[in-house]
Amino acid sequence: MTTREKSDKYFAPTYKKNLTITGGNGAYLYGDDGKRYLDFGSGIAVNTVGAANKAWAEAVAAQSLKIAHTSNLYDHVPGAELAEKLCGMTGFSRVFFSNSGAEANECAIKCARKYSFDRYGIGRSNIVTLKNSFHGRTMATLSATGQEKHHQYFMPFVEGFAYAKPDDFDDFLKVAGGSTCAVMIELIQGESGVNALSKDFVRSVAGYAAKHDILLIIDEVQTGNGRTGTLYLYEQYGIKPDIVTTAKGLAGGLPLGATLFNEKTAEVFTPGTHGSTFGGNPVACAGALVILNTLTMPFLREVAEKGQYLKEKLHGIEGVTSVSGAGLMLGAAVKNAAEIAAACVEQGLLILTAGEKLRFLPSLTITYSEIDEGIEILKRVAMSSGEVKE
Ligand SMILES: *Cc1c(COP(=O)(O)O)cnc(C)c1O
Repeated sequence: MTTREKSDKYFAPTYKKNLTITGGNGAYLYGDDGKRYLDFGSGIAVNTVGAANKAWAEAVAAQSLKIAHTSNLYDHVPGAELAEKLCGMTGFSRVFFSNSGAEANECAIKCARKYSFDRYGIGRSNIVTLKNSFHGRTMATLSATGQEKHHQYFMPFVEGFAYAKPDDFDDFLKVAGGSTCAVMIELIQGESGVNALSKDFVRSVAGYAAKHDILLIIDEVQTGNGRTGTLYLYEQYGIKPDIVTTAKGLAGGLPLGATLFNEKTAEVFTPGTHGSTFGGNPVACAGALVILNTLTMPFLREVAEKGQYLKEKLHGIEGVTSVSGAGLMLGAAVKNAAEIAAACVEQGLLILTAGEKLRFLPSLTITYSEIDEGIEILKRVAMSSGEVKE
């Protein structure tokens, strides 16, 4: 059997797959069809420094040869170093490491509820999230996700989530109330279409939350780790979250989630109240240290500049009606996103979609000429997309 056939036969059918990847180098991936693909998705914003990055691979290999796993009953050097570095770079007080975005959000949800329980007792446990949000696939994070299509089949969902309309502060005020302990939001809603929240709305929500001792949780699972041109996107909104969650690009290709706590939330968890077997695994932490060391101010400035460049190029493509997002997290509205994305694969360009948009999440190390190459393919495909019918 080929890889494709084994996959079709043995994997639980949760994914539609159409290409077998055998290797990569920077912004390029190799398929078992012998073709080279330019990758505008980077494993959904995960491969921060591209594929097979030498410094990253060496750090990960070296740590594997020392110790790959310890359990959280013991300390290890890359974990402690990473915690110090993340707190030092952000000003947050403490961090909890897990393995994914959903887990980072679960941790934030648990922290918010315990914070409120410790201060106010039972009953003040509601969390306001936004419509069109995406917070993960576990039961609690699915419940937090404000999209009807995700609230099917798996009933009963976790109680205590209420959904406000994005960029509508009046609606937020209707939804938030005396039983609210936290608000959890993405600043750019990624999965549902790369839509940025307005600064006015976010600052109003942050102000209200601070006034009522409601914790402000920012989900930076996708926007974090340099993706939008700053280390974290909340910096660009001029707000101070109580909790920030991140994952995807943090370890540059290994599973690692992080939940960051400020001085208010740093001491909420006590021994035994939360944990993870794999969370903050030494190998993943070694990979993340390489990523954080890469995300210097000049590097981040270049991400912002490359994002601006890509944005301008996208505006010049036939059929693109608008471009949204920040840095190298962009969405381009087109009439037939799925069709165009499929046609791009044929032409050697891997590209994602989100809602009705084409979604751009290339590795942060992509070069200007690689961006140009992808744009040329996209132009060709867009020009003939009227004829592409499958
Ligand atoms: C991807 C994503 C998640 C879920 O992350 P997983 O690692 O797949 O669990 C949560 N929130 C946001 C904003 C995401 O983009």
